[in-house]
Amino acid sequence: MDPRGFPTSLPEFQKVFPDDNACKEYLESIRWPDGFICPICANHGEPWRFGTRSSTVLRCRACRKNASLTAGTVMQSSHTPLSVWFWAAYLVTTQTPGQSALQFQRQLGLSRYETAFQILHKLRAGMVRPERDTIGGEYPVEVDECLIGGKTRGKGRGVHQMTNVIAAVEVRLRKDDEDRAAKRGNKHEGGKPLKRMLYAGRLRLRVIPNRSTAVVTKFVEDNVTADSIVRTDAFPGYAPLKSLGYIHQSMALNGSPEKADTHLPMVHLVISNLKTWIMGTHHGAIAHYHLQAYLNEYQYRFNRRFYPMTAFNSVLGIAARSIPPTYDQLYSGAWAHAT
Ligand SMILES: [Zn+2]
Repeated sequence: MDPRGFPTSLPEFQKVFPDDNACKEYLESIRWPDGFICPICANHGEPWRFGTRSSTVLRCRACRKNASLTAGTVMQSSHTPLSVWFWAAYLVTTQTPGQSALQFQRQLGLSRYETAFQILHKLRAGMVRPERDTIGGEYPVEVDECLIGGKTRGKGRGVHQMTNVIAAVEVRLRKDDEDRAAKRGNKHEGGKPLKRMLYAGRLRLRVIPNRSTAVVTKFVEDNVTADSIVRTDAFPGYAPLKSLGYIHQSMALNGSPEKADTHLPMVHLVISNLKTWIMGTHHGAIAHYHLQAYLNEYQYRFNRRFYPMTAFNSVLGIAARSIPPTYDQLYSGAWAHAT
């Protein structure tokens, strides 16, 4: 299978990965795109394969040592069939709503809840790690805060604690519109680009204890590249951004939807979708101390929505496998130990 192509629907996914053998072939093609190379003796040549359904072992014909297809991935030492792992990874990386372990167990047809829980837990581990690089640079960044409802444990039904969340999102111009706008000498500024010409680039979300100046400016400093254009409303907490080296563009929105649509269209759209996701999937009932993990997962999926293949490989832990070993690693056997 061509690793650049990626199924865009569940039926298509099941056609590409109908069984464990298809999954094995995929793992092998990612790890050894130019054919099997023994991790022990570096012999380049067809290995022996074993026909049994559960075997993920390839045996070198030169040294007769085994190499595991799942070593170093989340599937390593798991008794769950590869096809279940693949399907699970597809669901967590492409379905907009996050999956609960129970939904997951039903969709995957697993008999044990614990198995579904463990798979989900392992796949999500990579998604909830915060992304460290900064956004912005050549793209303007919109920043705004909102309140997300959370359930407070032990306070009973209907008692909700609202949590402050701050969001930063890059604003990009669609390529064809960019060309057209450039012809008019009207790229990002100097005119009012229509909302439909824009799309959201990378996203950053953080739970914040309050909306103080120190807290909101720290969020921008941690997440947005210095010198970027940063657009906010007229909230005074953002006032220091200019002295911190940002090109700060603030606008008093005064509750006007037209002004909000012109000045902060993307961040408002993202916040609105985030609230819908939390209310819809989790019924608004995310304990506030779990909220950051959910935000990270949302952000992870959002930032890879145009690269589902990357997200899929990454949650399964097979992305790093496409980096070929050096000859030194090959001959010392370090590659085998590293994976
Ligand atoms: Zn060998």
